[in-house]
Amino acid sequence: MVWLAACAPSVGPCRPSIHDAIARVQSREVAMDVRALEGDRSPTTNPLRLEYAKVFLQRSLLQLGFAVETQPVTVHGSTSHNVIAERVGTLGPRAPVVLVGAHYDTVSFSPGADDNASGVAGLLAVARVVAAVRTRATVRLVAFTEEERDLGGSRVYVASLSREERARIRGAIVMDMIGYTRRDEGSQRYPRELSLVDLPHELPRTGAFLAAFSLLGEGPVHRALLDARPYVRGLHVETLVLPRFLLGIMSDLSRSDHAPFWLAGIPAVSLTDTADFRSPHYHRGTDRSATLDVHFAARSARLAAATVLLLAELEQDGRCVDRG
Ligand SMILES: [Zn+2]
Repeated sequence: MVWLAACAPSVGPCRPSIHDAIARVQSREVAMDVRALEGDRSPTTNPLRLEYAKVFLQRSLLQLGFAVETQPVTVHGSTSHNVIAERVGTLGPRAPVVLVGAHYDTVSFSPGADDNASGVAGLLAVARVVAAVRTRATVRLVAFTEEERDLGGSRVYVASLSREERARIRGAIVMDMIGYTRRDEGSQRYPRELSLVDLPHELPRTGAFLAAFSLLGEGPVHRALLDARPYVRGLHVETLVLPRFLLGIMSDLSRSDHAPFWLAGIPAVSLTDTADFRSPHYHRGTDRSATLDVHFAARSARLAAATVLLLAELEQDGRCVDRG
């Protein structure tokens, strides 16, 4: 990779390259955010803790300079909120949107460190990266509620978008469980639907990689993800492009917040450690921060951040060209 950074002092400092920008993502901060959120955040068994997480997210995103609003979501009579933060791109109010999503609720009686405090910590890490740079496209961060009850939050969010608003979204990057790894042979299993997919190579049997799923034909978001990979050292990413015919039958591959985007024709990529296809703690009381691989979570967040900056077009000073 070759970097050209030739700003004359008279034009001010170079704006950061993608490489520099994502270096802001630190394992320590990711671990702190996971611990801050850890605990039953179920709308039925611990609505107070879910509310606390909402306020924590609002405050964190406001402090970073994002405009923040909430969207009510009612499921089986109980109402909680999606948290939506936005930073308008330099192209102005009609700029294309790059969206980052992660759910912050849990199932009952699970502290939800991996599922999905890890993804929310990833979202906050992306927020810190984006806050420090300028992008041509608008960046929108959505922390979804009620994922665990039939994707309630993301369904409500996508249904609330007009046709024009849907068309503005260049791509969505959805993180659900990005913090658990296993190094023992045979620790990784796969959904049965994958046997219907033409795989480019044999998939690993060891659970130490990040899986990235997108749909065939969703070019730009998938391209950005592929182009983001070289920026992140030490992260094994398995990218899988799924044929659209699978949409109707793939229960295991569409059971998170990326699914409503796919169904609405909005390009979306799902980043995940594959949940119960790897982790014995999935939806259990043992899903604690002590079981997580925070360096893996931080690298996954760096990948998400680099994907966002590529897709949202990081503004570079004309003379500070990243030629990597
Ligand atoms: Zn989840």
